Amino acid sequence: MGTPHWLFGDQLGPHFLEAGDGGPGRDAPVVMIEARSVFRRRRFHRAKAHLVLSAMRHRAVELGDRVRYIRAETYREGLREAVGDGPVTVHHPTSYAALRLVRSMEAVTVLPARGFLVPLGDFRAWADGHGGQRLRQEDFYRWVRRGHQLLMDGDQPAGGRWNHDHDNREPPPRGARALDAPRPYRPREDGIDEEVRHDLDRWEREGAVSFVGRDGPRRFPASRREALAALRRFTEHRLAGFGPYEDAMLAADPVMSHSLLSSSLNLGLLHPAECVERAEDAWRAGRAPVNSVEGFVRQIAGWREYVWQLYWYFGEDYRHSNALRHRAPLPRWFLDLDADAVTARCLATVLGQVRDTGWTHHIPRLMLLGSHALQRGWDPEAVTDWFHRCFVDGYDWVMVPNVVGMSQYADGGRMTTKPYTSGGAYVHRMSDLCGGCAYRPEERVGERACPYTAGYWAFLHRHRDRLEHNPRMSQPVRGLDRLKDLEELLDQERQRGDAAP
Ligand code: FAD
Repeated sequence: MGTPHWLFGDQLGPHFLEAGDGGPGRDAPVVMIEARSVFRRRRFHRAKAHLVLSAMRHRAVELGDRVRYIRAETYREGLREAVGDGPVTVHHPTSYAALRLVRSMEAVTVLPARGFLVPLGDFRAWADGHGGQRLRQEDFYRWVRRGHQLLMDGDQPAGGRWNHDHDNREPPPRGARALDAPRPYRPREDGIDEEVRHDLDRWEREGAVSFVGRDGPRRFPASRREALAALRRFTEHRLAGFGPYEDAMLAADPVMSHSLLSSSLNLGLLHPAECVERAEDAWRAGRAPVNSVEGFVRQIAGWREYVWQLYWYFGEDYRHSNALRHRAPLPRWFLDLDADAVTARCLATVLGQVRDTGWTHHIPRLMLLGSHALQRGWDPEAVTDWFHRCFVDGYDWVMVPNVVGMSQYADGGRMTTKPYTSGGAYVHRMSDLCGGCAYRPEERVGERACPYTAGYWAFLHRHRDRLEHNPRMSQPVRGLDRLKDLEELLDQERQRGDAAP
């Protein structure tokens, strides 16, 4: 019997128990701790709480006698109950708070992080090698592809190009209500889910915790077996159509060709290497076109990996960045996921998706939810907290760069070259969400003024001094000078305040 090894709830795949690199090895006893205090601290989406608990309990059943599964108020109490003062190992956790906790415990040895493609030290060396220049995701992504020989023919990108974004930004097919894509994998609930639901009901009844959102039938994998089935279904049947409509939105088809794999990756049920390798296999076997495969590989080996690395590289204070000095609190209707309070069809639709499933794809997150928060000047830390709590795939490491950097531009441009926000014209072009809406994307003042169009101009006006020096924003900012109704628009936006649009 080796030293006991502690698994956090997002370290559930087999790769966290493999020997090598100081890993625990096949026979080490395992400790898992279900800490109730985690749920007490914040108002999570109930489907997320359900998924995490279900996944942990499924893993415990798989590990059988090898695991001591402790239910405790805090991690500290749980660990003491499991191993007393004895030694224990743990892989580098995924948040600063958890890292601080394990480092503060004398008996705990922290092993290198697992579940990513690039060791943290390698990224640091790569990033430091830029001599203070802005880091670019595209450079990082190519470096990863070369280093891992991912989708490469020798030293050249397979398929002749590094980047197929150009083919992957199609608006939805005209007139289609849904993409003609095979359905995604859906897990079937079992006795463990029933027990989790029962526990969550009880906790809520006792007033110990409070949740937001609906906990309908579980949609996301809670075990390695389910996650592999979801990966297989995606790479064999759905990957081919992933690329072209990656950025499009359809009201009646929230998933389109997206993989729905983020929660499985972030729970550690899947390793990113196996996801991108299977995608590459599909291309080499002629089952999927290169633009779809490259698009998917870019999401995982490019974006996901980059976000993980930046979380650590930018340091703990990055989360408090607020370059635009946005301080408004999030309004009640948004905190409560009250989609019925919203008139704008696009925002009502995606807020409803979040309420019902704890998930929407990346464009609704960026260009509808995040963009609205940015235009309204909501406090970026509160926005990060909201995303973290309300999404099934939300964890500190992934939310902080995605929200603070990518979506709220709170880092003043360390992560992206410009703020991601737009008027209603973009939403209209990339979706069917403007059809039947009470507002008109081309109108900026008056009763039918689209909140995104008006919000966009108000945002540019508010930050004119900063944005007019940004080469990617100077032209839109100059557009303000042509608006004859700017004062009226600003007045209208002040009156709208934080009411649901
Ligand atoms: P697909 O579109 O099928 O993409 C494949 C995979 O790529 C995803 O499963 C995911 O693992 C990875 N990926 C792609 N982009 C990113 C990214 N920017 N960051 C991390 N992984 C990425 N993703 C999360 O996993 N957790 C989050 O908490 C999260 N928060 C986000 C918040 C905002 C404001 C934005 C703009 C994006 C966020 N993302 C987050 C990224 C992305 O929206 C989701 O990963 C994706 O929508 C999940 O659905 P999918 O698995 O079908 O993804």
